Amino acid sequence: MIKNLQDTIQLNNGIAMPGFGLGVFQVPNDATAEIVKNGIEVGYRSIDTAAIYGNEAGVGEGIKQALASTGLKREDLFITSKVWNDGLSYDETVAAYEDSLQKLGLDYLDLYLIHWPGNNKYAESWKALEDLYKAGKIKAIGVCNFNVSHLQDLLKTARVVPVINQVEFHPRLQQVELRAFCKERNIQLEAWAPLMQGGLLEDPTIAEIATKYGKSNAQVILRWDVQNGVVTIPKSVRKERMIQNADIFDFSLTDEEMQVINEMNLEKRVGPNPAEFDFKM
Ligand code: NDP
Repeated sequence: MIKNLQDTIQLNNGIAMPGFGLGVFQVPNDATAEIVKNGIEVGYRSIDTAAIYGNEAGVGEGIKQALASTGLKREDLFITSKVWNDGLSYDETVAAYEDSLQKLGLDYLDLYLIHWPGNNKYAESWKALEDLYKAGKIKAIGVCNFNVSHLQDLLKTARVVPVINQVEFHPRLQQVELRAFCKERNIQLEAWAPLMQGGLLEDPTIAEIATKYGKSNAQVILRWDVQNGVVTIPKSVRKERMIQNADIFDFSLTDEEMQVINEMNLEKRVGPNPAEFDFKM
């Protein structure tokens, strides 16, 4: 289990990834640099963006500013982006990767993910990711929003096993079957919308536990992620919340408290169901 904000877990290809990071979904590009800079300055080392978020340039600018202000090096950071649904052919995926690198102003990514399985169009895209990975242009490759059936299908032909499956995960959607499947194959589960996009911040069951420790609901949920061995990337544009969200390494939930939260599962989503989702934007 990670012990602090910068602690890493080891992915199935041996690469170290911070177990806790900052997401920037829905952050406008022109606000992103400041937020990413703040995040790195308060101790975050992992930043999660995507081509479709339209803020890779802002992320890149924030990284540049933070490296200058902190004296950190590029290799101290762990940067993730994702290829969108509209470009899942082999050539489109390679071009999308180059485009993301250019916008970010980086010469490699630590992690590059297929954003959605789409209508089973990911096989070619995965081949492109494998080749980019084997050529040393990406440190690690993975997927998002893959159900068990998508993973089973991909693994039939994959030459590289995904390191990560980044999926919606929070106390109301615990992905029990998918988590067990990923664990068996050493595919790390990473939680998006860990705070249910704000939906659990007033929840009374979590609040009761939070009060006991003098913590917020957000902190209890994120601590539950950490104790579950799930990588998590809460998003906040506010520096004080970034700090608060990461201030979870000075308390532990008891087995009983973990169980109370486990029992909140309704397999309820705030985002789309990958089994049905094939939109283009
Ligand atoms: P989160 O569950 O992280 O919730 C973010 C919301 O919670 C924001 O409204 C934020 O507001 C608020 N918030 C954050 N911290 C606190 C706090 N301590 N107290 C009160 N409110 C708080 O949702 P996301 O959807 O952003 O998920 C996290 C990340 O996962 C994304 O940013 C993105 O990187 C990734 N993601 C990936 C997807 C995929 O398909 N692969 C899909 C969706 C997200 P404020 O910013 O104002 O503080």
